[in-house]
Amino acid sequence: MRFNTAVVHEGREKNETYGATLPPIYQSSAFEQETAEKLEKIFDNKLPGYCYTRVANPTVAAFERKITKLEGGIASVACASGMAALANAFLNILRTGDEIVTSASLYGGTIDLFRDLEAFGIRTVYVENNNWDAFETAINDRTRLIFAETIGNPRLDVTDIKTLANIAHRRELPLIIDNTTATSYLVRPLELGADIVVNSSSKYINGNSSGISGVLTDSGHFKWKKEKYPVLADYIKFGSMAYIARMRASIFRDIGACLSPQNAFLNLLGIETLGLRMERQCQNAYELARWIQTSYPEIHVNYPGLKSSPWHEIAKQELHGGYGAILTVRVGSGKNAFSLINHLKMARRVSNIGDTKTLVIHPASTISLYSTEKQKAAAGVYEDLVRISVGIEDIEDIIQDFKQAIECINGCGEKTE
Ligand SMILES: *Cc1c(COP(=O)(O)O)cnc(C)c1O
Repeated sequence: MRFNTAVVHEGREKNETYGATLPPIYQSSAFEQETAEKLEKIFDNKLPGYCYTRVANPTVAAFERKITKLEGGIASVACASGMAALANAFLNILRTGDEIVTSASLYGGTIDLFRDLEAFGIRTVYVENNNWDAFETAINDRTRLIFAETIGNPRLDVTDIKTLANIAHRRELPLIIDNTTATSYLVRPLELGADIVVNSSSKYINGNSSGISGVLTDSGHFKWKKEKYPVLADYIKFGSMAYIARMRASIFRDIGACLSPQNAFLNLLGIETLGLRMERQCQNAYELARWIQTSYPEIHVNYPGLKSSPWHEIAKQELHGGYGAILTVRVGSGKNAFSLINHLKMARRVSNIGDTKTLVIHPASTISLYSTEKQKAAAGVYEDLVRISVGIEDIEDIIQDFKQAIECINGCGEKTE
């Protein structure tokens, strides 16, 4: 199935009792079995079935099946948030003394997570994205995983996933990719060699900002060795399912950051239009980026779809159907950035991306507030930078809103003296 067909039809369960065209919301914490023996077997993974929603739930499973199909993996685990999915993805294989090597161009929340993992003796080494020598040098005997975002948020650099996967695999390391900003509509990282893909489904997958959630998907290809990943030792017998089996049996159920059935349902509603929205939003972002670049030479516009982007070539090779729906502008000073944001009438001042509505934010004072100056610079966060997550509105209205706001950056109507 092609993408827009897959988002509406894939992952359906055939034995649905009443023929409902949407998966029912199983808003139940627990599931009864006829006998104690059957419950024992389900607990022991000897029989498929549901017992408790923190571990698994049929509505959540329907969402997981759909994501597994879209990302081209073998299994997914849905979580309460994108951060929960990332934390589960890392902690499922790491122990004290282990190291992560990551692209420095990351979402601020992930940088915060890496900092907080230091208290557990897990160290993170940051490397400039797509700098292969730097990645090679940073990898050592303690390294256990490589991490990057498909399109760095908010630097908007595009990771060459294929090359990074080759480097990781030569050193017998898994590559974990955060695909939130690109989505499986633009690229399927597992097809390019990534081993695990993580999505904050709070963003484009849900699409309307109606609920927080995250999901991770395993390709099943990575060969886990018990000497290097002792926490997986008991699960290696599950073969390609070792990683997911360990997660479901331990760290995922221990942490308990499960997805609620209600939010899984909202995601399943939203995801049906993922392709349509992405197509429109990428087109809108491209037109807005081009319009600002052409109309205001003094404003620096960063968008992977523009020839001026240092990542345009790799974006062209790797992404299909658009260049993402996020762009950033640098307007000269923090004061100008605040002024631009405050003068917008339609775009919403929101710490979010991937909504149907156009959203703006000043990353330096919000999502990257807890990053160090060095981390901010490496993540492409500057004092005068405004991030724009472009929505599905009519492009003429989006441009009109930015036109009046840009022209008011130095004051508009409000008397200064
Ligand atoms: C939002 C975001 C996250 C975190 O997701 P939540 O659902 O907010 O926890 C992780 N990575 C990226 C790239 C994001 O944009």
